[in-house]
Amino acid sequence: MNDTNRAAQANRADRADYQIVPLPAFNDNYIWLLRRGDQAAVVDPGDAGPVLQYLDQQQLSLCAILATHHHGDHVGGIAALRARYTVPVYGPAAEAIDLLTDRLDDGARVELPQLGASFEVLAVPGHTRGHIAYYDRNHQGCGSLFCGDTLFACGCGRLFEGTAKQMRHSLARLAALPEATCIYCAHEYTEANIRFARAIEPDNADLPAYAAEVARLRAANRPSLPTTLGAELRVNPFLRWGIPAVIEAASRFVGKPLLKQDADEVFAAIRSWKNGF
Ligand SMILES: [Zn+2]
Repeated sequence: MNDTNRAAQANRADRADYQIVPLPAFNDNYIWLLRRGDQAAVVDPGDAGPVLQYLDQQQLSLCAILATHHHGDHVGGIAALRARYTVPVYGPAAEAIDLLTDRLDDGARVELPQLGASFEVLAVPGHTRGHIAYYDRNHQGCGSLFCGDTLFACGCGRLFEGTAKQMRHSLARLAALPEATCIYCAHEYTEANIRFARAIEPDNADLPAYAAEVARLRAANRPSLPTTLGAELRVNPFLRWGIPAVIEAASRFVGKPLLKQDADEVFAAIRSWKNGF
């Protein structure tokens, strides 16, 4: 390749959107790796092993680490990555995470020029007290959201530190993003979540096709993610607290009639039901 061609190629690589690669970790975690050119960043590296292996294999250099919350399966690999790469470590200001260099509150921005990434930070408490999500509004023309253990495909995170009211508010913020937004969740829980969604809304006409697509992907050993917000609004019971069938199911669970204005109670009932499902 001559210098002109090399420069043209570098220029194209520079302008292209970063790619997002799932790195499976533990039983059902995904560490999301963002890459462009020879640079990469990772979201929620619970384990350094799969990240280092991929970086070596692909001859990439790490430029940033992003964490959504303090749980070990999301931050456990940070120390080993930092031992090899002196890079910024972004994470929630409200949580104790070792080695954070940039403590983020709601409304903060994370700029990663090496990747052409620009994230807005959304506070989404509920799973943990300080949980944050990273939203790149312009990525691939539709926007990409890294939401950790807040929103899952057809489900949502457990309430370890926050209340149902907080979590519903957080999910409502995510639900207000454009429907085309691609959602990168941190766990492969989709098939179990679909079984629960079917129990809540057996007559939901969008669930069979969603389930069939997930079954097809999983049978091929591929992630069910990313999902899109539009798809989730149609099938995810944890975004559908205002839908009559979901309100009826929640009412059956708590043994008293709930109304549309009881959104927090409807959400709390569905979340409790799922805990024991
Ligand atoms: Zn968690």
